[in-house]
Amino acid sequence: MKRHKNGNKQYFTRMGSRKKVHAFVRVKPTDEFAHEMIKYGDDNKSIDIHLKKDTRRGVVNNQQTDWSFKLDGVLHDASQDLVYETVAKDVVAQALDGYNGTIMCYGQTGAGKTYTMTGATENYKHRGILPRALQQVFRMIEERPTHAITVRVSYLEIYNENLFDLLSTLPYVGPSVTPMTVVENPQGVFIKGLSVHLTSQEEDAFSLLFEGETNRIIASHTMNKNSSRSHCIFTIYMEAHSRTLSDEKYITSKINLVDLAGSERLGKSGSEGRVLKEATYINKSLSFLEQAIIALGDQKRDHIPFRQCKLTHALKDSLGGNCNMVLVTNIYGEAAQLEETLSSLRFASRMKLVTTEPAINEKYDAERMVKNLEKELTLLKQELAIHDSLTNRTFVTYDPMDEIQIAEINSQVRRYLDGTLDEIDIINLRQIQEVFNQFRVVLSQQEREVESALRRKYTLIDKNDFAAISAVQKAGLVDVDGHLVGEPDGQSFGLGVAPFSTKPGKKSKSKKTLKDQLSTSARKEGAGSPLSGKDLDAASTSKTQLVPSSRDGDVKDVLSRDRETSSIEPLPLDSPKEESRPPRPSTPPPKPVAFEDFKNERGSEINRIFKENKSILNERRKRASETTQRINAIKQEIDVTKEALNFQKSLREKQGEYENKGMMIIDEEEFLLILKLKDLKKQYRSEYQELRDLRAEIQYCQRLVDQCRHRLLMEFDIWYNESFIIPEDMQVALKLGGSIRPGMVPVNRLVSLGEDDQDKFSQLQQMVLPEGPDSISFYNAKVKTEQKHNYLKTMMGLQQTQRK
Ligand code: ADP
Ligand code: MG
Repeated sequence: MKRHKNGNKQYFTRMGSRKKVHAFVRVKPTDEFAHEMIKYGDDNKSIDIHLKKDTRRGVVNNQQTDWSFKLDGVLHDASQDLVYETVAKDVVAQALDGYNGTIMCYGQTGAGKTYTMTGATENYKHRGILPRALQQVFRMIEERPTHAITVRVSYLEIYNENLFDLLSTLPYVGPSVTPMTVVENPQGVFIKGLSVHLTSQEEDAFSLLFEGETNRIIASHTMNKNSSRSHCIFTIYMEAHSRTLSDEKYITSKINLVDLAGSERLGKSGSEGRVLKEATYINKSLSFLEQAIIALGDQKRDHIPFRQCKLTHALKDSLGGNCNMVLVTNIYGEAAQLEETLSSLRFASRMKLVTTEPAINEKYDAERMVKNLEKELTLLKQELAIHDSLTNRTFVTYDPMDEIQIAEINSQVRRYLDGTLDEIDIINLRQIQEVFNQFRVVLSQQEREVESALRRKYTLIDKNDFAAISAVQKAGLVDVDGHLVGEPDGQSFGLGVAPFSTKPGKKSKSKKTLKDQLSTSARKEGAGSPLSGKDLDAASTSKTQLVPSSRDGDVKDVLSRDRETSSIEPLPLDSPKEESRPPRPSTPPPKPVAFEDFKNERGSEINRIFKENKSILNERRKRASETTQRINAIKQEIDVTKEALNFQKSLREKQGEYENKGMMIIDEEEFLLILKLKDLKKQYRSEYQELRDLRAEIQYCQRLVDQCRHRLLMEFDIWYNESFIIPEDMQVALKLGGSIRPGMVPVNRLVSLGEDDQDKFSQLQQMVLPEGPDSISFYNAKVKTEQKHNYLKTMMGLQQTQRK
């Protein structure tokens, strides 16, 4: 899998395969080489350190006496020549092919970092990696006449978290006005304010190198800098364009040659004051470098802390990532330096865990691309002209359309949409695209018109705006559940309907709670159709709703839809049947109006229970959502803790890579993390349990709400039929038949009963009713089909007569 740890988004076209960072160790020649302590492996790749028991005390404070480090090469008594061949030659060669390269020297002060990197500037034979790399670059350029390759260099020093341009003294650069900063852009990281110098030949490049070296020394005197405490980064930038003009691709690369500050630990020299400040800085930036290296070596880590200091930030796209990377660890071979040597070798073995994915930085030359495309375009236009003249299409033009042409297409589209234009002639691709474009324009215009029309007529309320909803509820526009309620004044309907309340103003005092409901609902299990419930709830799941200023549609729709699934179990209603009714109106009132009255009067009890259940349901839902949020937060914390724990663990594992493997000892930080994780997991489990319980409760409440709603509508239907539809004399006749309430019988059946039907019905009554309530489902099934077909028809007929 491809993994860009440093987030450098260059446009790689050819990905290389993964490869490990190469880590070498270079031992500084000394007459006091500790032969009994330091041993090299036969392969010249491993270095073993052995410590006698008696010398242990005070040198290192753990139990180990033997260490073994496996690296890519041990450079002992190696000439500068050999070092270059081993360490740098390939990296530089590959840079000319477009691969970035980084070579770093790490080690304690005096161990030979600068000697390795820059070398002795006064002696050609002892020159270091830097001048040799420049030489190789220019040699290779000479060998590639097919390409125009430019070379630029820069020389940066980082001292006490400040950036210095070691080449700013050149006459044409001038002192920078603003302090330099590390800047990231999609192409990578660069230092704003750092001078970059074009060099066309080896000699120029050397001059720049010497200039920088001189400045390094001068600065250490005049600015009182301790040069061993600064990091120096010499960068060679290359850009190779093919000399073949049609080739749009070009490659870029850079080589970073890094001479790090001394890695010796603070405290040894008893530093104070300025020196202490410097030492802390160095330790800090080197330990940030170490942290970044550890993170880069850990395949599980996605975030690499590059921005913690100037050094790692400046090297962000040169550590890991797509670079060829080499580390040279400089050590002393003397017994007195053993502690620092061990720490340097440890750094080297960490570096070895880092993998990189070297890739060519391939880019496209925009100018060349435009030129090539223009050529291609001219050719194609000529081709097209020939083609058109052969097919007699000379009237067609292919130029971009002007405003008038676009307006014409817009009008064509409009005429096409309203039907006055049958077809839009196709002329060319550009025109087809414009037609589609205008379709979009017209469509979005119409959408806006519709919306503003709706806004003029209705008030929009955000479903999540509880304050607004409750205000609307208070105004009586929406019921507790957020469902729409037809406004009582009902301008367009209800004329001449006398109020038919049986007990004006009476509201039931007996409050039925959810628990009371459970016992009854258990009996009525399965009575409600889940479909009808969903229909009603659809309104409450949408984000916004329309509150009509005068409208009956919603409720009526629901009523007619729900009608067909009604079951017929009666519910205790406020109004006893014996009570005298007011005179029946000549035309039945519209259902929505009647429904409002029903809810306030006879259906008030069930309506109240319905609302109560619904609010319990809403409360549970709210709690469930809160619990879910808590669970997510805990989960996140668990993840963070786990990651921290893994980091601690990997640190420990890396420290324990040596020969002596004792018992596993974990430090306090890791122990605390384990405790925290345990506690979090416990919390997680208990919250999760609560959520599960809540979910079960919600499911249960939902069913109750569905049932209640269903019954409210069903009772309303029965009541409505009895109050307005079924002739009173027929009701009397039906009542004689037994326990069935006349309103339960579908209206259309009653109203349209012919002679035969009536016979059938009385037969049915006799057959079915004596068997008691259980036979009702049979009855329901039998009439349901007819009901479905006839009911809507009848209702439509009824509504039409009402409107007249
Ligand atoms: P550092 O940069 O790590 O502080 P230097 O490169 O300045 O150390 O080395 C300190 C001294 O040791 C210098 O005088 C340098 O010439 C000498 N030196 C270091 N490494 C070697 C080596 N491999 N061969 C010869 N001299 C060396
Ligand atoms: Mg040095």
